[in-house]
Amino acid sequence: MTKPKSARTVSVSQGIGQDTSFGAVTPPLYLSSTYTFEGFGQAREYEYSRTRNPSRDQLAATLASLEGGALAIVTASGMAALDLALSTLRADDLLLAPHDCYGGSYRLIQGRAERGHFKVLFVNQNDSLMLREGFGHRPRLVLVETPSNPLMRVVDIAAIASMAREAGAKLVVDNTFLSPALQNPLLLGADYVVHSTTKYINGHSDVVGGALVTADQADGEELSAWANLTGVTSSPFDAYLTLRGVRTLFPRMEAQQRAAMAIAEFLAPHPAVEHVYYPGLPADPGHTLAASQQKGFGAMLSFETSLGGSALQKFISTLRLFTLAESLGGVESLIAHPATMTHLGMGEAARATAGISDALLRLSVGLEEPADLIDDLSEALDAGRAAP
Ligand code: PLP
Repeated sequence: MTKPKSARTVSVSQGIGQDTSFGAVTPPLYLSSTYTFEGFGQAREYEYSRTRNPSRDQLAATLASLEGGALAIVTASGMAALDLALSTLRADDLLLAPHDCYGGSYRLIQGRAERGHFKVLFVNQNDSLMLREGFGHRPRLVLVETPSNPLMRVVDIAAIASMAREAGAKLVVDNTFLSPALQNPLLLGADYVVHSTTKYINGHSDVVGGALVTADQADGEELSAWANLTGVTSSPFDAYLTLRGVRTLFPRMEAQQRAAMAIAEFLAPHPAVEHVYYPGLPADPGHTLAASQQKGFGAMLSFETSLGGSALQKFISTLRLFTLAESLGGVESLIAHPATMTHLGMGEAARATAGISDALLRLSVGLEEPADLIDDLSEALDAGRAAP
């Protein structure tokens, strides 16, 4: 028996050297929306690209393998992947969701609940009393986002998976912040994993995409059929580009998280920094759990500064390597102000409950030289402190 390939090898080698038409080393891109029938009533493997497409299937197989799942459905965005998981809920079903998730996920969940598609209870999943109480309401689906966006709160996937199993609920984990290179929720007992592949999986900030990976084959087939009906599957070109990004996922994650650690260590004692949220720091409340359930601490971190008003603006406008923009997970470093950007639509009250203050800044650390990134932050913090 041949030894199973490591995830790192799968990420690089999927589809390589398999082209039977011309011997192309990298897999070809199939843009055709439709496929010929061999004859009357004789469909081939592929019929219509909304349903299935060879380029999209190649990415799906790679992601299913990297997550240790049965099937993956590649969607047009991360939101579409999350919505696909939410489609398993009926009007009387309860969703137990985190109170501090990505702002877009929060709004989607709230919007669907307001329209009567399901019921929702937002809880602090690190508060064991609140969590137990939430499970007491017999949820049908539990959503976990760990580490959470933007506060990097780490949630115990295996513990929640076992509580969900006991309550007869399914568990879906948003694994966007770590990618399958650094965390595999299905192996910790989750039923579904969702990704915004827009982020680390593609890694080059040039595709918006998503994926839902199921632990169970039948669940995957049912959701795949639903994705075809609702038309949320991704374009073949996006899938092709994303698969190209996957080939460098592991080395990107390794280098980016090394830089993030160096930046967290620089920021933590800085006089203009009040608090750093990064599970890689031993003092972070999520450190021990992250060290046990993750394969790395990731390349996202947040921090609160003592700079307010014009000083904060000066800090951001002085930065040269951290670009002020939404999104994350690309090779370039980005900075975001969640209260006015990614989490604006959540509303002030929900942000306050989640602990997202106006002083919070989120960094997506890229592949630039770490010392250059630290110099950039250092100069900009000094400029902010000197601002009138
Ligand atoms: N989940 C998380 C944790 C995110 O950060 C995002 C986007 O920022 C999404 C889901 C949504 O993904 P997309 O923008 O690809 O729809």
